Amino acid sequence: MKDRGTILVVDDEQVVFDSLELFLEGRHDLLYASNAAQGMQIARSQRLDLILLDIGMPDINGYKVCRMLKHEPETTDIPVIFLTAFASPNDEVTGLEAGAVDYIVKPINPAILRARVHTHISLKIQRDYLELLVRQDSLTSLINRRGFDELLNREWCRAARGHSPLTVVIIDVDSFKAYNDTYGHIAGDVCLQRVSSSLTSVLHRAGDYLFRYGGEEFAALLADTPFEFVPMMAERLRLAVQNAQIPHAQATTGDVLTISVGAATIIPNYHDNSMTLVEAADRMLYQAKESGRNCVQVVDLGESGDAIKPAA
Ligand SMILES: [Mg+2]
Repeated sequence: MKDRGTILVVDDEQVVFDSLELFLEGRHDLLYASNAAQGMQIARSQRLDLILLDIGMPDINGYKVCRMLKHEPETTDIPVIFLTAFASPNDEVTGLEAGAVDYIVKPINPAILRARVHTHISLKIQRDYLELLVRQDSLTSLINRRGFDELLNREWCRAARGHSPLTVVIIDVDSFKAYNDTYGHIAGDVCLQRVSSSLTSVLHRAGDYLFRYGGEEFAALLADTPFEFVPMMAERLRLAVQNAQIPHAQATTGDVLTISVGAATIIPNYHDNSMTLVEAADRMLYQAKESGRNCVQVVDLGESGDAIKPAA
C-alpha cells in the first residue's frame, strides 16, 4: 500500500503552490493546475488522493469546481480541501455543502495544513484498501463482479468523453461442470486459478482489466483498443488457456481444458446503457459455445446508437 499520496493543487496563484511544496516538506507527490479547466482535466486523468482547491479563481470559482468533481464518477471519490482567503463561516458552509471534506483559511498555518492533509490522505488510502478488498475475488485475487460493474460505468464515461472504443470480453471455461465432476471441487478451484493466471499473462496494458465474472466465467475490459485488434486479443486469451495444457479427460474439444470467448466493441455515448455492450458480448459467447466451444466470436457495435455491423 502506498502511503505518500498524490495531491493536486488548483490555485490561480503559483506562489501558493510553491509555499505548499515547502510546507508539505516532500511528504507527498504534488501536481499543479493554475485554473479550473486544467484542474478538472488532471483530476479526470490522474490517480489522485487529495485536491487542495482555491475558491477565488478567474475562470470558474472553486465551489463550482468542487461540485463538478463530486458529480463525475471518475472524480467523486477524491477528497477536496478548500484552501482560501474567504474566511467567513458562510463561505465555509458553502464549501462543505459543495462536498469538501475540510476547509483551510489562508494565510496557511503550515502545522495545521500538514496535520489535516495527513489525516485526509490516510483516510483515503485506508478507504481505497477496503474498497479493493470488497471488489476482490478471494480465489483468484481478480476484481469481482461488483468491481466490473463499477469499472464498466467509469470506462464507459471515459470512452464517451474521448470518443474512443470500449470492449467487453466474456470468457467461459468449457465443460467446467464435467471437470469438477471428474476431478473434484478443490481441483476445480486450482484450475480456475490457473485459467486466471493464463488470462492475466495476456492483458498487461494500462487500460486492460480482467475480472472473475461468475463461477467459471471471466470478463475483460479493454479501453482504447480499436475493433480491428479485438479478434486477435480474444484469440490470444483463448490460446493462453489452451497452451496452459490443463488436462481435462471429459473435454468435448480435445484432452485439455479450453475456453470460449465472446467480445463486443462500441464507441459509447452518455445516453446509452453500458449493459447493451455486456449483452452483445454475452450473445457472442453464446455463439462461440454453439459453434463447438474453444473458439472466439466478436462483434463491432460501431458508434453507440448505430445499427449493429456484423464482424468480418
Ligand atoms: Mg485565487
